Amino acid sequence: MDCTCSQFLPLALDRRSINKRIKATAAILKPLTLLAEHPALRLKLFQCPHCAQYWQTGWEWNLGGTEYAYHVPIIEVGTWQQEPYLQPAAWMIYGAMMEPYYAKNTFEPSDKPCPVPGCPHRAIRFSGVCEQHHVEQLQQFGMLPKRPVGRLFPPYGPTVPA
Ligand SMILES: [Zn+2]
Ligand SMILES: [Zn+2]
Repeated sequence: MDCTCSQFLPLALDRRSINKRIKATAAILKPLTLLAEHPALRLKLFQCPHCAQYWQTGWEWNLGGTEYAYHVPIIEVGTWQQEPYLQPAAWMIYGAMMEPYYAKNTFEPSDKPCPVPGCPHRAIRFSGVCEQHHVEQLQQFGMLPKRPVGRLFPPYGPTVPA
């Protein structure tokens, strides 16, 4: 029997899509092969034995803590265990938390380069560093919500979702 993997699109970053996926997840996971688990983050990595598609689970307190499955790129298990993929619902919530900050601030580039080693961007006006490093500094000081854990993968990032 053919699998249903290709019927699923990347998760749209809205509650309706994620709740819908939560409901479909038990049926999605059933035929898949478990490749690895990340007990600390309560995440799992699966592969479809039919089409070889990789899937990861995510979950969110904010959405009832129930797991949902989504497509991820092929990855070596050890590498995945070091840093699993980003969870789309966490990325969505992060976007919502960051929205007031982005709505209040405009970032005009100055004529100076960002002084962080290896950074190719221009420093923004009224800050010594580029927009990305400015936000990271505020996050380090606890003045902005922290970026959720997990490696970015298409179609998510590196821009904070609107
Ligand atoms: Zn499949
Ligand atoms: Zn920079």
